[in-house]
Amino acid sequence: MNSLSLSKEQFSDILNLSNGVFSPLKHFVGEEDFKNILLKKKIGKKFFPIPIFFGIKKKIFNKIKDEKYIKFYFKKNLIAIVEINSIYKINKKLYGKKIFGKKFSQHSYYIKFNKENYAFLDFTYKKLNKKKLVDKNFVSPRQFNKKIKNKIKIKDTLAGFHTRNVPHEAHQWIHRFLLKKYSNLLIQPLLGQYKKNEYLDEIIKVTNLEAAKMYNKNNTFYIPYFSYPRYGGPLEAALHAIVRKNYGCTHFWVGRDHAGFKNFFQKYESQNYCKKIQKKIGINIIAQNEPYYCSTCKLVANKSCNKKNCRGKKITISGTKIRKYIRSNKKIPNFLMNKKISVLLDKKSII
Ligand SMILES: [Zn+2]
Repeated sequence: MNSLSLSKEQFSDILNLSNGVFSPLKHFVGEEDFKNILLKKKIGKKFFPIPIFFGIKKKIFNKIKDEKYIKFYFKKNLIAIVEINSIYKINKKLYGKKIFGKKFSQHSYYIKFNKENYAFLDFTYKKLNKKKLVDKNFVSPRQFNKKIKNKIKIKDTLAGFHTRNVPHEAHQWIHRFLLKKYSNLLIQPLLGQYKKNEYLDEIIKVTNLEAAKMYNKNNTFYIPYFSYPRYGGPLEAALHAIVRKNYGCTHFWVGRDHAGFKNFFQKYESQNYCKKIQKKIGINIIAQNEPYYCSTCKLVANKSCNKKNCRGKKITISGTKIRKYIRSNKKIPNFLMNKKISVLLDKKSII
């Protein structure tokens, strides 16, 4: 029997799919579901925005094309024995256009997608080794709901906050805003980044945990979202909303240019799209303007301070700005980032 080594991304998809994180999608898509999701955004009769597929490179395709069964390994552990139903190809340009928009051919992640996925595998598990299908950074919705069961009342709200960043003052403004408006907050940063200039998983973990510690421990929760960025803008933002619904969130904050990449999407495209489909998902979308720092009022706000002398005093709080400070070994100003968080960062925090 032939075997293949799973990438970290494939391993995380297997974990998420088999633990209900992407529910109603429970399995990698076959050819039919792939097309239905792209064209109708549906899995069966239910809404689903983005295909979760099992792609293979040409080299692997040649190795396994005549096999009936194959073994999946991850870090030398046998994860599964699968029976191949079919190996299929899709119209990749259609995928590009639907997910990344008209300029898809220039999108780095379309280029990556095109290069890495020669064909796609549709399979059934013959054996899934659940003992090895674990990661220290993965908490399943079931485990999370068990953990919070005694803390959250049935009528309570739980607002989900997604990030792929180290929390700065604008993020913390959002945390406090959500804690004021909703009964509970779940801070759930996305791990699994691989792009240069992003933060290391470990740094994202400790800094978000540090932020969570600053609030009421009875209604602020922290767990990672063990996956990877797809840079798919509005459709990926909708997937993030589905994930949070599955973790028990009643509300979900969609940021400005959520899951965006360079200027491929408009600033409020993700928010507008998620608002539009919130009923189909069954979660309430919170869409607000991004907070900024006003150097006259000396505070973070997301609505105009309405004072004459505030004009022109708006300072954008951005991750890019903060990474510049880190790279040049300069102290990050406290109005951009809380000291308790900035002390945890140095040049080695960035990929
Ligand atoms: Zn002001």
